[in-house]
Amino acid sequence: MPERPELDYIAPILDAALRGQVIDALVVDDPVVLRVAVPGDARALLAGRRIRGLSRRGHFLLVALEGDPPLELAIHPMLAGRFTLDAPGSGGTRATCLRLCLGDGRELRYRDSKQMGKVYLLHPNQRESVPGLGQVGVDVLSPAFDFPTFQALANKRRDQVKLFLLDKGALDSLGNAYADEALHAAGVHPKARVRELDEAALRRLHQAIIDTVGQACAEVARRKPPIDEKLRDFLEVRNRKGEACPRCGEKIRVTGVRGHDAFFCPRCQPDNKGRGFVDWRKAAEAGG
Ligand SMILES: [Zn+2]
Repeated sequence: MPERPELDYIAPILDAALRGQVIDALVVDDPVVLRVAVPGDARALLAGRRIRGLSRRGHFLLVALEGDPPLELAIHPMLAGRFTLDAPGSGGTRATCLRLCLGDGRELRYRDSKQMGKVYLLHPNQRESVPGLGQVGVDVLSPAFDFPTFQALANKRRDQVKLFLLDKGALDSLGNAYADEALHAAGVHPKARVRELDEAALRRLHQAIIDTVGQACAEVARRKPPIDEKLRDFLEVRNRKGEACPRCGEKIRVTGVRGHDAFFCPRCQPDNKGRGFVDWRKAAEAGG
């Protein structure tokens, strides 16, 4: 959280609310999240700057600032980061890490109960120095994301399919939740190697990415939650370990893929290579 459906929803809302506003002050409540890539003091650099606009880039929320030199805040909310836009005089919220106090008294607050997110203050030409911000892959909801493009990207991969889907430099963009959902919809095991997938599986996965991300964006836009709410009740496998798969009834399991957890249905997403499962017959033979 948040992933693309949430960021695509909140970025235009915050852009409409904050574009043209002047920042009176930056208040850093928890310096752990802040990374300053330009010389100088962050508070002094931001005070008096006007906000040019807010947008999503990969899994970052970008706050573009006017002034010389032009600067931007690139906020990567990771697991638990949330944004709120608070009225003047409203009480402090728990886990607030950073606040932009605006000329009209409102505050854009970044909260992060896990302190895993990062807020970078940088010059736009420094994006390459921030992981996941410099190079952003093909927009999976654009016409450019056609099957030949996806197939060409997949043909270059030697890694496990979940890692391919998480690579923001290849695909813009899926995080853990929507990668799991797309793999489930396509019937592809998260540990499968990309090169093991035949064209039919790649075609299913391509369509599943478009469908899961597109439908989630549409659902969030339709239900209009508060901007700090995580609307995920429509997900089929993510964070549903032990629950019944809505497609087949089998119990959903969780496995690890290079440090990422992956929720999947063992019946809808069979693992043809048997990874992650102990074959007791073979184990017994090996043990003599
Ligand atoms: Zn299933």
